[in-house]
Amino acid sequence: MKPRILFITGTDTGVGKTVLAALLVRHFRGRGISVGAFKPVCSGGRDDAETLHAALGGTLTLDEINPWHFRAAVSPLLAARAERRKVTLTQVVTAARRLQQRFPVLIVEGAGGLLSPLGEDFDSRDLIKALRAAPVVVAPNRLGAINQVLLTLAALPGSLAPKTQVVLMAPAKPDAASRGNLKFLREKLGPPRVHELPQINVSGPNQPVIKPLAALVKSLGG
Ligand SMILES: [Mg+2]
Repeated sequence: MKPRILFITGTDTGVGKTVLAALLVRHFRGRGISVGAFKPVCSGGRDDAETLHAALGGTLTLDEINPWHFRAAVSPLLAARAERRKVTLTQVVTAARRLQQRFPVLIVEGAGGLLSPLGEDFDSRDLIKALRAAPVVVAPNRLGAINQVLLTLAALPGSLAPKTQVVLMAPAKPDAASRGNLKFLREKLGPPRVHELPQINVSGPNQPVIKPLAALVKSLGG
């Protein structure tokens, strides 16, 4: 795989970005590809960074994965302000570039959705542009997902939107809405750009996700 940054964003908070990021880390490691993970800002706990830390198996420290973390369980910008601290786009890009020099593949997880404020002067969209990262949009596959996915794609720069991959997180029990979402989005965006991952335990057996993950990585360029 050519050196690159994959940026995991989503239609909302709590939609499965960390699950996907951790699965991708394990996928690359399983294929013997050196991979790093970066969750620049966390607020209200560092669970996401800890999940990525575990997936990496000790190749990065928690502070390398997550340099900025704030106590309040609100958006990172507001949580930082509550502690009179600041994170800027330049600082985050510098930290990401440092990791990128160490790993051919770097998986970056935003916080919240694409336009949730991460710091004083940036959101995930700004970070995707600054890093020239390949975006992956995660959405829960439930009623309403079509609109949420299309809104998120529409908010990405025109040059990136056509290359962006979409990952629908399957519900515990597929229903008419989840089946319809997958079909419609594949029709609209082209089948190779829309993926669905079944529900699994990230630390458990990954058998059901092997094929969809391999297809996603292929669509991302190898
Ligand atoms: Mg997360």
